[in-house]
Amino acid sequence: MPPPDVVVIGAGLAGCAAAWHLAASKRVLVLEQGPTAGAEASAQNAGMVRLLGEDPSERALAMRTHAFLTRPGADWAGLEVSRRTGAVLALSHDPWHLHDGVAHLRAHGVDVRAVAGEALGQLAPALAGAPVRQAWWLPEARVADPHAVLTGYRRGIVRMGSQLRFGVQVRRLEQAGGRVRLHVAAGADGAEGSEPPIDADAVVLAAGAWSAQLAETLGVQRPLFPLRRTLLTTHAHPASAPDHPWCWIDDAGLYVRPEGAGWLVSACDEAVDPPRAGPGTRGSPQPTVQALALDKLSRLMPALADAQLAGGWTGLRTFAADRAPLLGADPDVPGLWWAGALGGFGVTCSYGVGEALAHWMSGREVPWLHRESVSPGRHLLRRFPIRPQGELHRPRLIDARRAPRRRTAASDA
Ligand SMILES: Cc1cc2nc3c(=O)[nH]c(=O)nc-3n(C[C@H](O)[C@H](O)[C@H](O)COP(=O)(O)OP(=O)(O)OC[C@H]3O[C@@H](n4cnc5c(N)ncnc54)[C@H](O)[C@@H]3O)c2cc1C
Repeated sequence: MPPPDVVVIGAGLAGCAAAWHLAASKRVLVLEQGPTAGAEASAQNAGMVRLLGEDPSERALAMRTHAFLTRPGADWAGLEVSRRTGAVLALSHDPWHLHDGVAHLRAHGVDVRAVAGEALGQLAPALAGAPVRQAWWLPEARVADPHAVLTGYRRGIVRMGSQLRFGVQVRRLEQAGGRVRLHVAAGADGAEGSEPPIDADAVVLAAGAWSAQLAETLGVQRPLFPLRRTLLTTHAHPASAPDHPWCWIDDAGLYVRPEGAGWLVSACDEAVDPPRAGPGTRGSPQPTVQALALDKLSRLMPALADAQLAGGWTGLRTFAADRAPLLGADPDVPGLWWAGALGGFGVTCSYGVGEALAHWMSGREVPWLHRESVSPGRHLLRRFPIRPQGELHRPRLIDARRAPRRRTAASDA
């Protein structure tokens, strides 16, 4: 391939979506340190497409992506990218917490209905008897298959003449004559310089949990917080059914969705956990988090109180302090663009992320997203309220200056 116009760092949902949209008008090279696409956060999620998020930019990106997931194009032929399940978003403390989001979605024609009492238990047996003060039913909500989504992005990137390279780790970035130079190595163990440096007019940082560390090599400080979260599976349970809506008691921090004959459950735990250099962020559930999930199930979803845990995993969700994405041009480094901080909504938002970025990189606007709200140059607080036990009303402040820094194999020993 001739020299690329744009290099995208990271082949997760963000990087592949960006590359797919950009490849229509530019030569794109995607560099991924791991052996395949979407092996980190993009493989660790629950797949829920959540239209009713807390942040307006997230909701705007979610509506674009939901439309795509409902009718994906030719690159996704033969793939089941997503399926409609419906969803219930409920609240057990603050019944008004999602009212602004509901109004926003309804203004765009999204079907959102209040549901209560016996009707709630009939619609979603998992919520029968749940002590909730407000519940919203979204009949059009979906569950996506991130692997299928990524397969289509990859097909399109190659079809349009662009390229993905795996096992190539970007070690550092440098400004060189108005361009950005990428110093790369063959894989996580390769020596820097084992591959020739790559110069590009534009670089998209879509490196998930590693993005802030890469930006720091250019002297740019954009505090991002990688937070570890646990997903648990249960053994077969009588209330589970493939067409059961996914259910989320938002302010208490508990969600479930059918998985096989049982449930996928999260107590929405959050713990700061910067990644080590190199791929491999998937972890194992801790007993304290398993106990937290069982306690929440018994208190908040009594219909699932008898569910037995079978397994699970943990993964990294990476946030900016205001929990909005970092998307667009970095004002301090010409040629550096961001597609990151997708926290817990990268499945829900990937298509819109790529679409907005490709428009902005071509000097065009999108009418549905406010650039400044997601700008990497916006004022970002260095302190961030995380929700260790998933409860919105019991946050703990984390200070970016005191949070653990990049981990190495030696510091882990
Ligand atoms: C437990 C959990 C549950 C979730 N549930 C949901 C959900 O239900 N719905 C939803 O919408 N979202 C959910 N998410 C969030 C979603 O998975 C993420 O927002 C999304 O996957 C982020 O994609 P990404 O491309 O930014 O990051 P990643 O998928 O992590 O991709 C970044 C890529 O960059 C590569 N990379 C990093 N550094 C370098 C380097 N130096 N050189 C080369 N390559 C590099 C990495 O190897 C990686 O492949 C969940 C996440 C987790 C962890």
